Amino acid sequence: MSADALLFVNAAQIVTCAGPARARRGSEMSDAVIQTGVAVLVEGDTIKEIGPEDALRRSAAGVTEINCNGGVITPGFADSHTHAIFGRARYEEQELRATGVPYMEIARRGGGIHASVRDLRTRSEDDLFSLAQPRLRALASSGVTTVEVKSGYGLSLDDEIKTLRVIKRLADALPMRIVPTWLGAHEIPLDYRERTDGRREYLDLLVNDMLPVVAREQLAQFADVFCEPGVFTVDESREILTAARSAGLGIKMHADELSSGGAAELAGELRATSADHLAAVSDAGISALAAAGTVATLLPGTMLFLGKTSQAPARRLIEAGVPVALATDFNPGTSPTTNFPLILTLGVSQLRLSVAEVLIAGTVNGAAALGIADRVGQLAPGFSADLVLWDVSDVRELPYWYGAGRCHASWARGKPCHVHDLALAFRS
Ligand SMILES: [Zn+2]
Repeated sequence: MSADALLFVNAAQIVTCAGPARARRGSEMSDAVIQTGVAVLVEGDTIKEIGPEDALRRSAAGVTEINCNGGVITPGFADSHTHAIFGRARYEEQELRATGVPYMEIARRGGGIHASVRDLRTRSEDDLFSLAQPRLRALASSGVTTVEVKSGYGLSLDDEIKTLRVIKRLADALPMRIVPTWLGAHEIPLDYRERTDGRREYLDLLVNDMLPVVAREQLAQFADVFCEPGVFTVDESREILTAARSAGLGIKMHADELSSGGAAELAGELRATSADHLAAVSDAGISALAAAGTVATLLPGTMLFLGKTSQAPARRLIEAGVPVALATDFNPGTSPTTNFPLILTLGVSQLRLSVAEVLIAGTVNGAAALGIADRVGQLAPGFSADLVLWDVSDVRELPYWYGAGRCHASWARGKPCHVHDLALAFRS
C-alpha cells in the first residue's frame, strides 16, 4: 500500500452513485446507491476499493485513516456551467429588475453583460486570477471538486485569450479539476452590433481568428454559443460550433433559456455534449436531445435569482430519456451563487426531482456534461478520488438544510480540496 493511501471510515452513509460510466437517463437516475457499514480506500489519485469496513481495515492495516465521525460521504460535485472569470459584481441590477426595469433598459443604462465586458477588458491577467481564485475556493467549500469555467466577457481576440489563460493558471494552482470552455460567442460586442456588417465581421473573428488560437494553444476543451433569439441565431451557432468541432473542441450550448428558438434541436443535430438552461425547450427539442444523448444541464438558481416563476421541464426531460445535470451557472449577472447544495435544494423543490435524481444530476451527469463520466462522478474502483465529507448523518439533509454550508472536507484526485476543520478530518 502506498504512503499516500487513505481509508475513510466511520461514515453513516457512503453514497457512491456507482453504476454505468456514462450519463444516466430515466430510471437510472433514481438510485444514488447508499451504502452503510462500508469504508472507502483511496490510493494516490484513484479509488481503490469500497467494501465492508472491518475487512478493509484489516487488509489495509497501517494506512492513514480518516474518521468521518458519522458524517456522509458523496462523490465530489461536478459543476458543469460557470462564468467565474469576471471583474466587478453587478448587484445594482438586482433592484432594478425587482422594480420592473426590463433587461434591455438595464443594458441601455450600461448594465448587463456589456458592463462585464467593458470591465474585464480593463483588467490584467493577474487581477482576474486574484478575483477568481477565492470564488473557485468558495465553490470547493460547497462540495465541488470539478468545475467548468467559461470565457465570454472578453469578446475580442486578446480578451478571450487572456480569460482562457487565467483559467489555465487557476487549473494549475488549485486542487480542483477545472474544465475550460471558450464562449467567445456569448454576445455580439456593442461596437460590432452598431456596424452594418458587424454580425458577419464578429462571426469571422470568432471562426477565423479566435478559434485557431484557442485550438492551437489548447486553451479550451469545449466551445459554447449563446443560441437565443436576439443573440446568436441557429444558423450562426451551427457555423461556429461546426468549425469548433473541426478544430477538435467538444460542443456545449446555451439553449432555449428565454424562448424556444430551435437551439435544443440544433444541439441534438450536432450531438452536442450538453445543452444548458432549456427553460423554454420545445417538445421537438426534447426529442432531439434524447435521440442524440445530449445532457440537459439545468440551472434553477438562475431562474430563482431572476424572479422567474417558470423552470425547465426537468420531469418531462427525464421521462423522455434525456440525461439531466444540475449546475450553478455562477455568474455576476443572473446567478451569483457558489452554493452547490442550494442548487440541489432547487432541484427538489422547484424542478420536483427526487434526492437520488439531484445527486446523480450533480455528480455522474455533471461529469457526463463535461465528457469525463468514464473517470469522474462516482465512487467506484478505478475512478478519480473526488469525494466530499458532509456534516450530516443522512444524505437527504443536503437539499433539506437549504442555503447551509455542510461540506466538512473534500478531496480531489486524492488531495485535500477543501478542509473546514483539518484536525477533525484527519483524526484517526
Ligand atoms: Zn451561462
